[in-house]
Amino acid sequence: MYNVKACSAASATSPLASTTIPRRDPTEHDVQIEILFCGICHTDLHIARNEWGSVMPTVYPCVPGHEIVGRVTKVGSAVTKFKPGDLAGVGCLVDSDRTCPECKAGLEQYCPNMILTYNSPDKQLGGVTYGGYSGSIVVTERFVLRVPSNLNLAGAAPLLCAGITTYSPMRHWGVTKGKKVGVVGLGGLGHMAVKFAHALGAHVVVFTTSPHKKDDALRLGADEVVVSRNANEMQKHAGSFDFILDAVSADHDINAYINLLRRDGNLTLVGVPAKPLAVGAFALLFARRSLSGSIIGGIPETQEMLDFCGAHKITCDVEVIPIQKVNEAYERMLKSDVKYRFSIDLASLKSA
Ligand SMILES: [Zn+2]
Ligand SMILES: [Zn+2]
Repeated sequence: MYNVKACSAASATSPLASTTIPRRDPTEHDVQIEILFCGICHTDLHIARNEWGSVMPTVYPCVPGHEIVGRVTKVGSAVTKFKPGDLAGVGCLVDSDRTCPECKAGLEQYCPNMILTYNSPDKQLGGVTYGGYSGSIVVTERFVLRVPSNLNLAGAAPLLCAGITTYSPMRHWGVTKGKKVGVVGLGGLGHMAVKFAHALGAHVVVFTTSPHKKDDALRLGADEVVVSRNANEMQKHAGSFDFILDAVSADHDINAYINLLRRDGNLTLVGVPAKPLAVGAFALLFARRSLSGSIIGGIPETQEMLDFCGAHKITCDVEVIPIQKVNEAYERMLKSDVKYRFSIDLASLKSA
């Protein structure tokens, strides 16, 4: 065991503050990573403040962070894919049971026994796992990703959650050249969805409530931008979409979007509105449309996504901050005052 500097919440109401946490010494299958950048995901704030306490109570102290990019500092004797000096990434998962049908299919994100990067039971050290707002992390090789060396590392970090969350459903629902794809909401998730859909060759339409986001949507790769409050503009697209990714976490009229799908079209939710959405059955019945959800991605697909990003030079648009600004960043994130993700430069932890 060794100690490392980190940033933690001591309770649901306390701001994050610097601390020291233990990490295990790497065992034979482990990779030890010096963390260089960690993205800030909205989930970090929910967990740090115990806002999902009814399903996933937070154990304190809580060290958030599951968009981790760093450099390998040490590997166990049985590790074959990494050596010291390599770039490496860690996303939302650090382990699973590895034996259930989901794990065997490479869909570890649906494993009933998955171990999350933070706030999950830590089998090695006891207590709970600690995330990426820290100087280093030790993860079993199977859950460590290779990060293409041509990518900006601050912008690559959020690929490990925001990136895979949007890439996975597009691959599952067959987004390719010639398909018409809608993206609802242009935030941390939505801006990545636009980049991926564009790179996959689709015709991309962004739906937004904010007309001032139009230029940015076009810059990110959208072919068209529709202001969703404008019923006429919406109607022009009725029955025309192969796939729509809905990344909105606020309450909204889902039927308005389902009606834009063509026959057998699919709308996938990746946002989590606090209240249940009202779905009109007719919107689904006519044209055999489907509504589904998706969460992050398995380890093989996360690697595929990172390799795709390397080949297409895709990263997240980030604002890099020192760890000292994390509490301020949380407040700004609540106001959607970030384009489009915060990425913490962990070098700042040395002076924390
Ligand atoms: Zn996340
Ligand atoms: Zn499993």
